[in-house]
Amino acid sequence: MSWNLNELGRSWGGEVMPDVGSIGRRWQDREPAIIPSHLFNNYRSNIYTKSLERGSEYLEAVRCLALMPSMVDVIEDRILRDRLCAWIGTYIDAINAELQACLEMCHACFHAPERRSIQILAAPLASRFGLDGSCNIESDPVTILIDVGRVAPSDWLKLVAHEYAHAHLGSPGHDRRFLAILEHLCLGLGMQPPSFSSEISVTEMAARLQNWPDCRSLPDPLAFWMGKQ
Ligand SMILES: [Zn+2]
Repeated sequence: MSWNLNELGRSWGGEVMPDVGSIGRRWQDREPAIIPSHLFNNYRSNIYTKSLERGSEYLEAVRCLALMPSMVDVIEDRILRDRLCAWIGTYIDAINAELQACLEMCHACFHAPERRSIQILAAPLASRFGLDGSCNIESDPVTILIDVGRVAPSDWLKLVAHEYAHAHLGSPGHDRRFLAILEHLCLGLGMQPPSFSSEISVTEMAARLQNWPDCRSLPDPLAFWMGKQ
């Protein structure tokens, strides 16, 4: 399977993976007595292997789009890594579709000629970077990566709005230009816009904007990616 990095957000470049659990239930519901268990187990095993391969390839492709490849976490423990990749291989399309919907809502805050070409993808980000999301303004299209395991799903749009402001400006800074775009997005999306006194220093404003809008953090980011939440 080959990956087209520029179209990764729109397509996997491969077949759509079925839900292992639902297939198992359908088979068992229809013909519980005549499917030999070893064939059923082989089938499930094959599905798992395909999911694992697709998840591994997805992560490898996303690493190429990150600011630094090492930002996209790959767990050292092989068993845990396989479990992560298999989960990604099965569910990442649905997750990315939700992020794409958030991106479209941000786009809708601007007139079409003002919109930059932006792609958005979910990926587990290495904890040592301390980031919930990142924006690679050097890639074409600009790439937003969101670690959906780090914030509550109800706050994904907030996180996307922050990274969208960077993507729209083509700048990693949290200066007054960033503030203006973020205010515009917050008003358009019905979020609380940042408000600062006119006395605030540039440094303090940047520090506060770095974490705006406020998102509810999840205690165990990898739990989401392992299907535990
Ligand atoms: Zn930022």
